[in-house]
Amino acid sequence: MHALGIIGGGQLGRMIALDAKRMGYHVVVLEPQEHSPAGQVADEQIVAAYEDKAAIEELGKRCDVVTYEFENVAIESVEHLEALGHRVAPASGVLRITQDRLLEKRFVRDCGVATADFDEIERVEDLASAAMRVGFPAVLKTARGGYDGKGQWRANTLAEAHDAFAAAKGARLIFERFVPFVRELSVIATRGAKDDVVTYPVAENTHDGGILVTTVAPARVEKEVAARAAQMAATIGHKLGVVGTYCVEFFLTAHDELLVNEIAPRPHNSGHYTIDATQCSQYEQHVRAICGLPLARPMLMANAVMINILGEGKGDYLGGIPQLLADPSIVLHLYGKKHAVARRKMGHFTMLLEGPVDEMAIARARAAREKLAWAPDIPALHV
Ligand code: AMP
Repeated sequence: MHALGIIGGGQLGRMIALDAKRMGYHVVVLEPQEHSPAGQVADEQIVAAYEDKAAIEELGKRCDVVTYEFENVAIESVEHLEALGHRVAPASGVLRITQDRLLEKRFVRDCGVATADFDEIERVEDLASAAMRVGFPAVLKTARGGYDGKGQWRANTLAEAHDAFAAAKGARLIFERFVPFVRELSVIATRGAKDDVVTYPVAENTHDGGILVTTVAPARVEKEVAARAAQMAATIGHKLGVVGTYCVEFFLTAHDELLVNEIAPRPHNSGHYTIDATQCSQYEQHVRAICGLPLARPMLMANAVMINILGEGKGDYLGGIPQLLADPSIVLHLYGKKHAVARRKMGHFTMLLEGPVDEMAIARARAAREKLAWAPDIPALHV
């Protein structure tokens, strides 16, 4: 049996592990938090920090291939594994680019793919020239380490840009033009070791305060737009040389222009729908790619609406599950996290549609979410 290592014990690692287990792999997770979402379903969990050299070496020794479930993993750990001759996918070169918003945006432009205008802010003096070149409204983001809307500030004036700079406490920033998008789209793709790329149907995403809340697939866009997004994602995957599943996020403008916002070198929240709505999930494709297996051509078996279930800080137990599942088109996924801290991703559900993706279907899925409520006490089993 081959062994697969995952750095990171969150929900993405859990879903990679679940598919890897189904496919017969031995799974080892490295994660500092005991009994992590991924650790719960893996064969073993090494409880240690991601930067712990001895633990990383142990992971390498126990596994035939190592992957990671988030891009802010210490690059030194990945490089260390590579230097010792272990196989890591995606490779450290991919992380180096995708960990840094500035390198990433420059890379995307080098691929011939458009992004919002941007400039680099290293010192406070850079703000005025960036404001001249890029203009307002703008978004300032830390070049490294931000996620789910953290490390990100809107600015409509130079004074507000100064406030953002102060809030960032000296971190290197990207000064980005705010895009008045009509839709946010994402393409989940997988690149195999032989440079073959497959793409999933383009998805349409809604965020709240920088956190994904809803994904619908396929996106309600013209065929030509969907094809162009898929082509751009494939171009980026080829040039990046990423082995595994990755995600490219786009803004679609009123003029049907596609601007790349971000690349994630791993399975992505907006691809959860692929578990229930396609024959081969983004997680299985990831396992296939990093283990050198052929990729599946993604087939959408049903249109889908995916809703994230976020914590609310009102208790750690989810009530209303029987009411939610009274709708037979809904599939529920919970991640085994103990504390439902406000805005923490605790689970999601996917509603499989018999008809088209439209406002009615989305409203039905959102209404289903209202049946769930966090509470301090565990609800009784309905048996
Ligand atoms: P990010 O961390 O870059 O993915 O940003 C999180 C979310 O903030 C995005 O999904 C958008 O909803 C919003 N956002 C980020 N950058 C921009 C931008 N330049 N223009 C408009 N909205 C943005």
